[in-house]
This record gives sequence, C-alpha cells and structure tokens, in this order.
Amino acid sequence: MDVEQKKILIKKLNEKINNCKKCPLHLTRTNAVPGEYNVDAKIMFIGEAPGRNEDLQGKPFVGAAGKKLDEGLKKINLERKEVFITSILKCRPPNNRNPKIEEIKSCSPYLEEQIKIIDPKIIVLMGNFALKYFFDYNISQIHGKIIEKTYLGKKRLFYPIFHPAAIIYNQKLKETFYKDFEKLKEYI
Ligand code: SF4
Repeated sequence: MDVEQKKILIKKLNEKINNCKKCPLHLTRTNAVPGEYNVDAKIMFIGEAPGRNEDLQGKPFVGAAGKKLDEGLKKINLERKEVFITSILKCRPPNNRNPKIEEIKSCSPYLEEQIKIIDPKIIVLMGNFALKYFFDYNISQIHGKIIEKTYLGKKRLFYPIFHPAAIIYNQKLKETFYKDFEKLKEYI
C-alpha cells in the first residue's frame, strides 16, 4: 500500500474513532486521541490510554510522559514526524484509572486496523498494559528484548519498554528506559 492510500485510510479511521460511542468512555472524554504522526512509519509506539493533557488536546503523549518519549526518540535520532504514536484505548479513562477489559475489547479493533494500515517493522509496547494486550509477560522481565510473533497474518517484531510516565520520578528506571532506546537503534 502506498503512502497516499495509507493517509486516506487513517483519515477515515480517525473520523470513526473521533465519533465512536462503543464504550462508556465517550461520555467522559473531551477528545478522542486516535494517534498521529507518520502513517508510513517503520516504528509504531503503543501506550496505555490518553491522560488529561492528551484528552484536552486530542494528541498522543503531550504531557510530561511525552517529553520523556521525545528524549528517548532523540537518543535514536528520531523525531515524532518519523514514527506513529498511539495507545490501546483511544479515550481517557476518568482520573486515569486502569482500562477495563470491556473497554479494551471495544477499542482494540481500531488498533488492529492501525497496525494493518501502517504495517510498521517494529511495534514498541510502552508499559505493562500495552505489553499484556499482546503477551503474557511482565514488563520487568521482557523490556529491551525483541519478541517475534505472527500477528494479524504477518510475522511482526515487538519491543517492550517501560512506560515513559513510570520513569519520571525513578532515576533507575530512567537509565533503563534510555538504554532500551539505545538497543532499539540496533533493530532499525
Ligand atoms: S475508548 Fe475506544 S471504544 Fe471506547 S468510546 Fe473511545 S474510541 Fe470508542
């Protein structure tokens, strides 16, 4: 699929997400946050769900955690415009509570569609929620390691890292987070 086709499909999908009422989170959201940047990206980053700032702006990772993600990207000489960033849920759970199983079930077809359209070489899973959607591992066991899995009819590479929000007040995790980005460089 060429870039122009991808742009059209992602635009249509975004319209669906922005008008979605499939789960109760549509009642409390300010904006849905479908995800953005490069629809032809080789790397897709997946987080848990939008937070307060993301909900207000309708954009992914725009708060303090987003700054950490940007720093990580800088370590591998990438900018947002070169990657695609999204999350498992597209609407903010009230008070940033954990996503519920029914919400994930309702929302996950959108993520699957994004993966099929963008077709990234590596899918970076940020934090336990994103990881556990795909695998039965814990982030502390598996971060910084490539996992190969056939998903949506294709062999794909997954790369779990800690969630950028988890490293804000934890110096040790911060070092690990940046080291994992350095390792990611070897795969791209
Ligand atoms: S979280 Fe997903 S399924 Fe629920 S309303 Fe938002 S877009 Fe729809």
